[in-house]
This record gives sequence, C-alpha cells and structure tokens, in this order.
Amino acid sequence: MTKSKSGRAGKEASAASTLERRQMLRWGMLGGGAAVASLFNCPLAQAAPTAKEQEAQAAVERATRGMPAPRVRDVSVIEVGGGGNNDSMVVKVTTDQAGLYGYGCATATFPGGRTNLVRAAVEQYLKPLVMGKATDRIEQIWQLCYLSSYYKNDVVQNCAIGGVCDALWDIKGRQAGMPVYQLAGGKLREAADIYLHVGLGAQDPGKQLVENARKLVEKGCRNLLVAMFLRDGAANNLYGQPKFDDGSVPFDRDKETRKILGAFEEFRKEMPPEIGLGVDVHSLLDSTRAVQFCKDVEPFKLFYCEDLFPPEEAGHYQVVRRLCTTPLAIGELWNNPHEWQPLVEGRLIDYVRHHVSHIGGYTAARKVAAFAANYEVKFAWHGGPNSPVGHVTNLTLDLTNTNFGIHEQIDYTPLVQDVFQGCIEVKDGYAWISEKPGWGIEVDEALAAKHPIIDEHPNETRTPDGSVIQGAG
Ligand code: MG
Repeated sequence: MTKSKSGRAGKEASAASTLERRQMLRWGMLGGGAAVASLFNCPLAQAAPTAKEQEAQAAVERATRGMPAPRVRDVSVIEVGGGGNNDSMVVKVTTDQAGLYGYGCATATFPGGRTNLVRAAVEQYLKPLVMGKATDRIEQIWQLCYLSSYYKNDVVQNCAIGGVCDALWDIKGRQAGMPVYQLAGGKLREAADIYLHVGLGAQDPGKQLVENARKLVEKGCRNLLVAMFLRDGAANNLYGQPKFDDGSVPFDRDKETRKILGAFEEFRKEMPPEIGLGVDVHSLLDSTRAVQFCKDVEPFKLFYCEDLFPPEEAGHYQVVRRLCTTPLAIGELWNNPHEWQPLVEGRLIDYVRHHVSHIGGYTAARKVAAFAANYEVKFAWHGGPNSPVGHVTNLTLDLTNTNFGIHEQIDYTPLVQDVFQGCIEVKDGYAWISEKPGWGIEVDEALAAKHPIIDEHPNETRTPDGSVIQGAG
C-alpha cells in the first residue's frame, strides 16, 4: 500500500496548487480565460459553470428555440428605372420561414455604373454562395462574399455584397420587430439635417440659383448644394456645335468655374447667411484649376467642396489643405480603403461621402464611420442615385453614429414612391426614420418589373478641343 502524501510536503503542494488556480483565475479575469485554461489544461478548464452562467445559457437556449435561425431560400434582383437620379437596384433575400424576407440596396450609382454587371454578380456568384446559409450570421456571410473573390474592393462586387448583406440586416430587424437603428444601439439624434441639390442653369446662373434656392428654403431646407455637371455646362465644341459627331458633350472647365463663382457671389448677397451652401466638383477640373477653384470659393464659407480631386490625384489634398480653409469632402468615387484611409488619418479632409453600396453596404459603412470618428472626420453618405432602401441605410448610420455630418436627400418621383412604400419622410429640413421593422420599406415587385433601368449610357465627356476627360452625368 502506498503511503499517502502528508505533512509539510503535502501542504506545500496544496498551497502551490491554490496559488496556481488563483493565478489562472486572475488571467481569466483579464480576458481570454477559457483560452488560457485550455492551453495549460488547468483546473479552470474543467470548472463547472456557475449557477448564474447556467441560468444565462438556459435563457439563450429558450430564446433561440423560440426563434430558429432562418436560412436563405432565394436571392433575387429588383431594378427600377426611375430615370437618372431615381434609378434603383435592390436585392431581395427570401428565407425558409413564411413571410420573412429582406431588401438591401445594390444601386451602382450614375449612368455608367454598370448595373447589369451588379445583377450578374448577385445572381451568378453570390446567390450560389449564400443559398441555405443561416441569415443571422451577417458578418460571417459578408466576409464569405467579400473573400470569395481573390480580387477585393471592386465596386460591382461591393454593390452585390451590399445588396445581399443589407437584406440580411432587414431580415434581422423584421425578426426582432425593430428598425435596424435599434439593433445598432438606438438613436443618438432625433433626425438628420439634410441638403438638397439646387440648379443654376446656363442663362443668368446667379439669378436662377437664387430663385431656385428661395423655393427650396421656403419648403424648410437650410442647406443647398450645386453640382458641376455637363447638363449645366452649355459649352460648344471647336466647331461651334453643342455636341461632337459621336454624341459626346463638350465641357469648358474655365467657363464653368467662372459661372459658379459668379453665381455663388450673388447667392451670398441675396440669401440669408445661415443658409448652407456646398459644391460638388465631380473631379471635372484638372489639378491646377481645382486648387485655384478651392481657394476662390473660400469667401463663400461652404459646408464643403466635394470631389475636388479623383482618387488618383489624392496627393493634391495636402496642397489644398495648406492653402485654404474650405472644408473638403471625398465622394462616391472613393471606395478602396487604401485610397481614403491616408486622407482621414492625415486629417486632410473633413467628410467621407462613400456611396454605401459601393463599399459593401451597411456592414462596411458602420466600420468606416467608426474609423473616421477617431480622427474627427465626419460622414455624409452619397445620396443619389440611390434606392429608397439605401437612403434608409444612410439615415440609420446618420442617427446612430457620433460623427454624422449632413444627409444628402433626393426627392423621388411618384413612380419610385409607389414602388418603394415607406420612403423616409422629410419635415422642416430634417430626415425622419420610420419605426417599422428592418429598413421599414416594402417593394411593389410587380410594378417594378414594368420599369427596368433603360437609361444607362457611357460617361463620356470632352473638352471643347475633343480631349476625353473625367465626366459625371
Ligand atoms: Mg458627388
């Protein structure tokens, strides 16, 4: 018979064991306790759950038994040709539970956005990937979709991912009986301050700008933005014609900047100073003209100047930052984190304005918002063209993040409002979110089917001498 351990040696072993357990428990409290315990196979690993832990686990099991995870039964694409700014594409994810489905925005913005490629990316690549998957694993499915291609950060694929995964957020909200903003922690502001687009035309642009602005201010809007666009360019080519033989349109950059500067001067003379004014350059200017323009608009105290440079000319933001105080925003062209992160980290811009579906939808955008908040950079998501579902996604981010800047609002045509029932409401210059579950929008799919997108066209712009340049609309 073996003699049992006793006396001083036994007490020392017992004390050492107690010390070890206390040490491991301390590690556990510092974080990763279970992982540490499993590495060392110490008593903590075999420790029975406490009564409190058992009670919590039982509650989780009761809850999940009552609401089994839905699984993806179908994925489809719905498009609505609302005309230009009202073109929309959404993805519908249908589950195996009766009546449970969701919509997510997959709109590839602007004519030239390659809508048909987004449809193919959803139907041919993502649908086979997510069929049968549990819809409650949104982050996992997002990563699965994103990493399923060796090539990441492609706008077309990101739109497809955004459409699928934002539909899963809609489903989760519908399951919970809550709007998505509640799932994100609830509102930290009641409504979002908006801006509207205001046109100035080609004939007497200053007068037209003031007249148009007054009408919008009377409706309660406090912030207005002028976009440099071909449609307001009114330039002739070197032959004196409004178009080249192939249908492409000339754009005179010097004439356009003079027109806008003159109109802004009149706006500031005539309009109350509290009315916000912004400009979207759409990267139509070359870098020399762009730097000068940004200095020239400084006296007008804009809320921001958007897309002064395209991503490939990002280095010029450093130059402009040193020369003037005009607030700077980067817009819908900026999708790859390698393009915009250095500008945020260097505090070289004031606003990020991604088109949310272009970067992969709500799942990606909430991370962008959190990243930018660390550098006191605000966001003002791109608003048009965008589906009404996408607008609610934007508004959800606006209401649940500290670094919200301003909400770009687009007025929808009656057709779009008939197709998308539950568009966000605007009152007194603020956008208000619905209290309905999910994104709060139902889609009349039969009506949408009668109105496909038909107005896509190449985004071709030329200077009057015929050189091809960056264009927009
Ligand atoms: Mg823009």
